[in-house]
Amino acid sequence: MKNYSIAAIPADGIGPEVISAGIDVLKALEKRLGTLRFSFQTFEWGSDYYKAHGVMMPEDGLAQLKAFDAIYFGAVGAPDVPDHITLWGLRLPICQGFDQYANVRPTRILPGIESPLRHAGPGALDWVIVRENSEGEYSGNGGRAHRGLPEEVGTEVAIFTRVGVTRIMRYAFRLAQSRPRKLLTVVTKSNAQRHGMVMWDEIAAEVAAEFPDVSWDKILVDAMTVRMTLHPQSLDTIVATNLHADILSDLAGALAGSLGVAPTANIDPERRFPSMFEPIHGSAFDITGKGIANPVASFWTAAQMLEHLGEADAAALLLSAVDQVCAAGIKTPDVGGSATTRQVTDAVIHAILES
Ligand code: NAD
Ligand code: MN
Repeated sequence: MKNYSIAAIPADGIGPEVISAGIDVLKALEKRLGTLRFSFQTFEWGSDYYKAHGVMMPEDGLAQLKAFDAIYFGAVGAPDVPDHITLWGLRLPICQGFDQYANVRPTRILPGIESPLRHAGPGALDWVIVRENSEGEYSGNGGRAHRGLPEEVGTEVAIFTRVGVTRIMRYAFRLAQSRPRKLLTVVTKSNAQRHGMVMWDEIAAEVAAEFPDVSWDKILVDAMTVRMTLHPQSLDTIVATNLHADILSDLAGALAGSLGVAPTANIDPERRFPSMFEPIHGSAFDITGKGIANPVASFWTAAQMLEHLGEADAAALLLSAVDQVCAAGIKTPDVGGSATTRQVTDAVIHAILES
């Protein structure tokens, strides 16, 4: 029996709804397989915690999380707390503090879910976006001078380091190599951004030489939005900067049918620290408390967590249960169904236990 300790941070909005659904599904896997056990500890951090204590998590938050095998995260964001506080107060300190430099975002069109692309059925789109998660445009460097005055200046400095770019390129090439098509697209903006982005391109070419069996190409980020929409089959593994991949992966989620199905993993590939698994979507306060949040992203990221823990069979079982339930049309309103979060969760649990 393998034992895994999981820190659950449901946080804000629909976060608690989709994380508790995910925990129920993981418990069903435990029951079905009999070979693994999870112990969950829930941390009540987030915007309510901020309103009570003035911080999103306690000062020793990272120390409290460090010994866990993985972190299962909901979403942050509240209508009455500025977004930069919720993001920089909880999610980003975990990603940066635990050097989770590879953000991995698989996308595919699930059976029974319609893509807004007219001719794209299941199989038309099967991507993994690798997002640089430790530096670039979100390095947090910048400042404001002459605040509030007409001559006010704000800067937001993107920082690219040779170490940071090389390690994410290696991660992306290795991931591309492990997939059947062995195909990597490197996203760039080196026409306009002629320093850090040109270095990004140079390092891509250097790392490519280490992976002669991977075919790769590069494309400017603006052209990439067109390629994703018009030629989705031409893509497989994709690597992009922190900002570019943030934007492209929301587009990918929408093309796959809904943000409500899109998962993400924040990985420390060197396994010095726990990695963190979360849906891509935010706290979705427009649907909070209605019981209709799509839990599929939360299930899919739980499967990413299982894979990271070395439980590939359990991950495959969970994904196939999700596929079955989607194919049967048991789905929430964001993907054209009428089921509730609970109904989808119960159907996935049933599929797991009956498999
Ligand atoms: P959002 O992802 O919360 O919602 C965008 C739209 O998608 C909404 O209409 C929402 O109802 C829908 N949606 C999202 N997830 C869904 C799900 N599981 N099921 C059904 N529908 C779903 O993005 P937003 O509205 O731009 O932001 C809301 C808050 O979330 C903001 O405070 C923002 O800063 C925060 N946010 C947090 C994260 C994160 O925690 N990682 C990511 C994005 C946004
Ligand atoms: Mn985003």
